[in-house]
Amino acid sequence: MIKKLLQRVFNSSKLKPKNKQAGEAGSAHSNAKRISSKTHRIDRKLLSTGALRTTQDLQKAGFEAYVVGGAVRDLLLKRRPKDFDIATDATPEQVQRVFRRSRIIGRRFRLVHVMFGDETVEVSTFRGSHLSDEGQDEGQSKIADSGRILRDNVFGNQEEDAVRRDFTANALYYDPSSEEILDFHNGVADIQAGVLRMIGDPVTRYREDPVRMLRAVRLSAKLGLKLDKATEAPIPKLADVLQDVPASRLFDEMLKLFLSGHAIESVIALRQHGLHHGLLPMLDIMMGQPMGQRFIHLALKNTDDRVLADKPVSPGFLFASLLWHEVLGAWQKYQKQGHRSIPALHMAMTEVTDIQAEKLAIHKRFSAVMKEIWGLQPRFEQRAGKRPYGLIEHPRYRAAYDFLLLRCESGELPVELGQWWTDFANADAEQRQAMLMPDSEPKKRRRRRSRSRTVATDAPAAEQ
Ligand code: ATP
Ligand code: MG
Repeated sequence: MIKKLLQRVFNSSKLKPKNKQAGEAGSAHSNAKRISSKTHRIDRKLLSTGALRTTQDLQKAGFEAYVVGGAVRDLLLKRRPKDFDIATDATPEQVQRVFRRSRIIGRRFRLVHVMFGDETVEVSTFRGSHLSDEGQDEGQSKIADSGRILRDNVFGNQEEDAVRRDFTANALYYDPSSEEILDFHNGVADIQAGVLRMIGDPVTRYREDPVRMLRAVRLSAKLGLKLDKATEAPIPKLADVLQDVPASRLFDEMLKLFLSGHAIESVIALRQHGLHHGLLPMLDIMMGQPMGQRFIHLALKNTDDRVLADKPVSPGFLFASLLWHEVLGAWQKYQKQGHRSIPALHMAMTEVTDIQAEKLAIHKRFSAVMKEIWGLQPRFEQRAGKRPYGLIEHPRYRAAYDFLLLRCESGELPVELGQWWTDFANADAEQRQAMLMPDSEPKKRRRRRSRSRTVATDAPAAEQ
């Protein structure tokens, strides 16, 4: 007991700086409703090992620590949380000192990633109000003329932290040791009533961070919560302020939306709220492809089914689908201009990926997969000689084949072509031989490399 007490005192004096930047916890909870486990019925065993260890270790070191945000909300809704976020009164540096395997990340919003095996737990320090940032270093908080928050690193106490969160359902703090929920904004009642409600004045909150409009639409579609009237009403009028958000952040948010398991509902809701036009380049491009609507619908449905069945989803594949009709249009254009099929396809791919590189900020690792999937498509039309054998061995064959099936299903290609490839993959050697089409294409002439050329081209590579 004494040892524990000493450890507490020792730890807190060692870890907490004198003029503590993080919240002076004190009476910050006094305005919160305390909801016991008998009422909320969250089973502590459903927390991840990482979430439990993080809160326990921080508390042992003398800090406050709670599971917060989406995880508490999801547990109340009897859903399995995607991941666990922790809120604490320790500063990022103090958190880092408690956990050997951790690192501070982010600029706009600094937080700590704590690693436990495969699991990463996100730990953020209680945020304070932007209006009362006296005594804080300049640069910790930054607000644009439009009201948009550019940097959010002003620390505060728990009550202030709760006000800074977006929805009442996302401002619940669960303490795994007492098993109590601290509820500052009636979030538990809202969840029970099936309502998603913005904390504070929705217009101000959307101006501070326009991405909250996308979060409102995504979370209500995903969780089956109805948007509260005042939360919903200003969205179409404020849609324009999304234009100020950096492309990379919009992209991250769109990715979350597409991989939520409720992509179709979310996209429909985005349109209903006037958030699709001129604001989200990805949606703009998608909606601008009349021929592609069915294809996109199938791709999103496919993705939703996989997410809900806990199967892995490849963002590269998804983006390849969402942009396919854009590529198809450009491909046809270049062919009409007299380019041959394959070079025309590559020109089209470059054109579409160049536009999106600037407007959509799709990450390179996804766009590389996209290009491979697209680039393999013409090879499915070659069903003679040795070609099908080569294609089926290609490392990206499976994704490209799934993509082909989508093209067939959407009516772009005859169903027979997809079926042929399905049969070919399942056939034995003899059956495969019998399936091959007569070779009508001229044989490729093999170019022989002269010895001297080989030496000449190899030389610089060896120097590198
Ligand atoms: P998901 O199920 O998609 O993870 P989430 O609500 O947990 O939903 P995160 O992005 O993981 O979303 O954010 C964790 C928590 O941080 C939220 O629950 C909310 O309290 C807070 N938060 C996240 N984004 C914002 C924002 N733009 N403005 C205010 N608070 C936010
Ligand atoms: Mg989350």
